[in-house]
Amino acid sequence: MSSSASDGNFTADVLAIAAHRDDVEQTCGGTLLRMAARGLRTAILDLTRGEAGSRGTAEDRAREADAAGQILGAGWRQALDMPDGGIENTYANRLKIVRVLRHLRPRVVILPYWEARHPDHAIVAPLGYEACFLSGLAKIETDAPPHRPFKIVYASLYADVRPSFVVDITPFIEQRHSALMAYRSQYANQAAGSAIFVAEEEIRERTFAEARHYGLLGGVTYGEPFVQKEVGLVDDLTMLPVQSL
Ligand SMILES: [Zn+2]
Repeated sequence: MSSSASDGNFTADVLAIAAHRDDVEQTCGGTLLRMAARGLRTAILDLTRGEAGSRGTAEDRAREADAAGQILGAGWRQALDMPDGGIENTYANRLKIVRVLRHLRPRVVILPYWEARHPDHAIVAPLGYEACFLSGLAKIETDAPPHRPFKIVYASLYADVRPSFVVDITPFIEQRHSALMAYRSQYANQAAGSAIFVAEEEIRERTFAEARHYGLLGGVTYGEPFVQKEVGLVDDLTMLPVQSL
């Protein structure tokens, strides 16, 4: 994996864009692992560097994000420099994402769902969507040719919304947990901030319970939820997954 911006040769099948380092580990890390296991090339773009966190420094988080990205099998991971806690949907920010999209040329982009408790999470949905649109416009010139992703899906774990589909992450749940725990400065049991941070054991129980809930909706053990805006298209009714009764 490389976190360098200059290695222009890597292209991705699936790109996950998130506000903060450690977001994708929680919302779609199992899905990235599953895609990598299928032989697809995956990439992660974090929009901030985590300088506003109560624990650890941005440098700690850079190291941890690199380790977590390797555990998730991502071929590329980079962080932009948007302010942690103050991401805005501006033209300048859209352009920063356009430059990444045109280099990585993903077919699928994963964004966070557009309603969330944390304003950074919510704003990345329209910001990322508009960047994907602009990226396809030839009149917007950057150092790489235009590229419009084919598909956008929204990781809806943080939102109280019924997903359009779930991805079976059962074989990857332990590995996803290891990726989250790579953020030692955030999640390892420690005194600093222990009044507002939950214990490591509790994080495991919560994240596994959420994955179990969404897994049940898809008829599997552990799952991750997604929303798509488009209507699904079916070829063969006898091949539809998920049993009705
Ligand atoms: Zn976050």
